[in-house]
Amino acid sequence: MEAEKILEFFFPNHCPICDRALLPGERICKACAKIPRKVKPPFCEKCGKHVKEAGSSFCFDCRRIPRTFDRGYSLYEYASVHDSVFAYKTLGRPEYGRYYGRKMAEAYASFIRQTNADAIIPIPLHKDRLRTRGYNQAAILAKEISDYTKVPLLENFLIRPNRTSNQKKLGRGQRQNNMKKAFHIAKNDVKLRTVIIVDDIYTTGSTIGAAAAVLRSVGVEHIYFLTLATGRGYL
Ligand SMILES: [Zn+2]
Ligand SMILES: [Zn+2]
Repeated sequence: MEAEKILEFFFPNHCPICDRALLPGERICKACAKIPRKVKPPFCEKCGKHVKEAGSSFCFDCRRIPRTFDRGYSLYEYASVHDSVFAYKTLGRPEYGRYYGRKMAEAYASFIRQTNADAIIPIPLHKDRLRTRGYNQAAILAKEISDYTKVPLLENFLIRPNRTSNQKKLGRGQRQNNMKKAFHIAKNDVKLRTVIIVDDIYTTGSTIGAAAAVLRSVGVEHIYFLTLATGRGYL
């Protein structure tokens, strides 16, 4: 711990919200800690989004779209952490992920325990993107969750052999097509019954859905997911 503090003195962590250099041991500014807004219940029983319509167990998207995952949750409303998530991915701030991963682990510790998961699997990046970015933002979140809950982290099981075009500008059908062949299983020598997929953002569910479909195809029975933030779906 002391060595870590000395290191942080010379190489300070930065606040995930305002990017200010923090004091050793700090992970976020006091004022900034109040900025990320948690998704409020009631939660969609599939994707964990806030359900607005009274009396419904599922959000608009999950009522229409068959899901390949069992269920999942997102911790924050994307709008409240949008700039921070963008900086996390583009400015080279892996410490943001360590802070957020810990928050996810604390928030979902009992859910994770209940799932009895064999492994935590981060959504992989294509190797070119990994090289330019230097780290996989989902893998840092997943590692923190794994360290906290002791559920083994399984990296490089799911891989992304092809570059997929940016999902943002695509409609629903195009997104699903774009993602269809996005993931492969690298080595199928581990028998997994239950897994938790981890990613940074959940929007329409097409990324998590495509990963879940590939995992199902190799016999994984129960597939859950956790993401840091959830944005608007097709609505
Ligand atoms: Zn701050
Ligand atoms: Zn839903």
